[in-house]
Amino acid sequence: ELEKFKLAVDGTSDSIMITDKDARVLYVNKAVSEMTGFEKDEIIGKYVGNLWGGHMEKGYYENMWHIIKDTKQIFTGELNNRRKNGEEYIVSAKFYPLLDKNDEINFFVGVESDITKAKQLEHSKAEFVSVASHQLRTPLTGIKWFSELLLKGQAGPLSGDQKDYINQIFTSNDRMIKLVDDLLDVSHMDETGHFKIVLQTEEFSGIIKEVVEEQQLIADSKKIKIKVEDACLKKIKLKVDKSKISQAMQNILNNAVKYSPSGSVIKFDCKKDSDNFIFSVSDQGIGIPDNQHSRIFEKFFRGDNVISTGSGTGLGLYISKYIINAHAGKIWFESKEGEGTTFYISLPIK
Ligand code: ADP
Repeated sequence: ELEKFKLAVDGTSDSIMITDKDARVLYVNKAVSEMTGFEKDEIIGKYVGNLWGGHMEKGYYENMWHIIKDTKQIFTGELNNRRKNGEEYIVSAKFYPLLDKNDEINFFVGVESDITKAKQLEHSKAEFVSVASHQLRTPLTGIKWFSELLLKGQAGPLSGDQKDYINQIFTSNDRMIKLVDDLLDVSHMDETGHFKIVLQTEEFSGIIKEVVEEQQLIADSKKIKIKVEDACLKKIKLKVDKSKISQAMQNILNNAVKYSPSGSVIKFDCKKDSDNFIFSVSDQGIGIPDNQHSRIFEKFFRGDNVISTGSGTGLGLYISKYIINAHAGKIWFESKEGEGTTFYISLPIK
């Protein structure tokens, strides 16, 4: 049985390692040598930090040890390591504490897979999107300026049809600018794994007012009323990145407008408990089909029931979630198809 077990563990392409409770290596499978370039007898009895590890920031390892040693939980993460020949490589790793009957740590088990190639591919994809978007931004801005000039009558008066057509060029172009901006955001997030935010103390009800006023202009064309509840008008100071949090708020409000019937009402409500400020946007729109709830925050995902509506990229909520996570907040929703949707965003007060 032991032999079978050993064959199986040695035969996997993931590297598997067992260390004692002081993190000295007791066992490694074959893949560890293939991945790191160190031979078995160079590894056993040593600390990983003195072999291929130790290249992350100190805080990273402190957090990792805290999770597996103090809380005795599994740690999952990505690490930059270095092979014996000095080459850098990236692994996706899981470290498990193995406990004895008395809940004391006996060993640690580490399982790592080499994701360097996948990461490089991800990087070139993100770079391509970023370069392409940058290149598109300039001509699109040109189209915006010149159609604006035409609309203002700078090149002479326009007939009704001409005005109408140029308006359509202007609107479509604006949609393209929004798409390009979203793609730039996403490629940056995918590459860095986070959204860079700059926190400042802001009076939050002012932000709500600004964003709602702007979205009301869009809602007017569908005779939709955005009703802001009194609880949202109370002054409250929160530490946020104003432009980013406005972007997330715009996204969920704009979705509510897009996916609601003409003449309906959208409710903007706020709540506060000792730790969090929560705001919500409820609509009476088409709702999100049950079987798609789990996919709504995925990149480029759009519900079955909205595909025919045309305008939308499936990036808004993906970006919003990143923004809210970067604020240590939460975003979630409740929805019933055909009845309506409520999105909630909660932000920490401290
Ligand atoms: P999109 O640009 O398509 O609106 P989002 O990322 O903002 O992309 O939203 C993703 C999908 O979530 C939408 O395509 C839609 O299917 C669904 N969705 C988001 N908000 C609502 C809403 N208020 N009502 C119904 N469906 C919604």
